[in-house]
Order: sequence, then structure tokens, then C-alpha cells
Amino acid sequence: MVSGAKKRFEIERVGAGEPVVLELRGSIDEHSDLSLLHDAKGSSMLLVLKDIVRVNSVGVKKWIQAINRIDDGTDVVLSECSLAIVAQINMVKNFAGRARIRSFYAPYYCSGCDAEFRFLYDVDHNFGAVPFQAPPAVCPQCQQQLVFDDIEADYLQVVAIARGMR
Ligand SMILES: [Zn+2]
Repeated sequence: MVSGAKKRFEIERVGAGEPVVLELRGSIDEHSDLSLLHDAKGSSMLLVLKDIVRVNSVGVKKWIQAINRIDDGTDVVLSECSLAIVAQINMVKNFAGRARIRSFYAPYYCSGCDAEFRFLYDVDHNFGAVPFQAPPAVCPQCQQQLVFDDIEADYLQVVAIARGMR
């Protein structure tokens, strides 16, 4: 399990120059300081969201405010969206604002190993036309076919949203 300390929200700028790369970690909630999103100026910004474990309702509001406060001239990309982020993208209209969604994690389950796995997919390269289907995957431990560990049609709405279809 994730410890309390690890769940604390952090934003870290990785490297210098363009694009501005920000790694976000932990829970987005009433304690999260998202000011770096608009303080870090640049013509392009990449937000790495793989370690966001939770977004609560206050966090959703703060996130949408922060996304909308980024300068209009900045091209914003959401990368490696975690399951928690995908859930919000699918549930909350305009959660991504005008940011582009590049890639996200999808959940799989192996009944043989009773284990959960996450695979990273690229919106442009891993999906065909509608209806979107989760790419098949095998268990890294036992090579058995994995099952998608969510309602596939619901979860993959993120692809339609990312492609501007919804
Ligand atoms: Zn397995």
C-alpha cells in the first residue's frame, strides 16, 4: 500500500528549457499547491501524471482553475495519466481544459496470479477507430491473457475525449 507520506502532493520541475516538464505526485486535494502550473512559463508544457493517486472534489476544482490559468500561448500536454486522472477526465467535463491528452495507463488483471497490472497507451498509436478496444495484453508473470480491469467502453471514453470527439 501507498504510505501517507507518499500520498502528499508534490510538483517537481524536471530539467530546464522547453518543454517545461512538471511531474505531479500524490493526491490532488485542498492541500495541493498547483501554483507552479502557471508560474512555470513556457511555450510548451508537459504534465506527467502517472503518480497521481487520487483527486477529490476540492482537488477537481483546484485543478480546473489551475489548468485554465495557464497562459493561452502555452501548449499543454497531459502525459502518462494515472487511473485516478483518467477517471476524472471521463467523469468531469473540461477536466483537461484545452490541454491535449497524450497517453494514459489502463488497468488489467490476471486471474491466474491474482495480480493487477498497468499498461501505458498512447492515444494516437494504440487505438484504432470507434469502438475503441483495449489492446490485448498477457501477464508478465505467467503469460496468460489478461482481462481489462474496468468497464472497457467507459474507461476508453478517454480516447474519444483526447481525440476531441466528445
Ligand atoms: Zn499471471
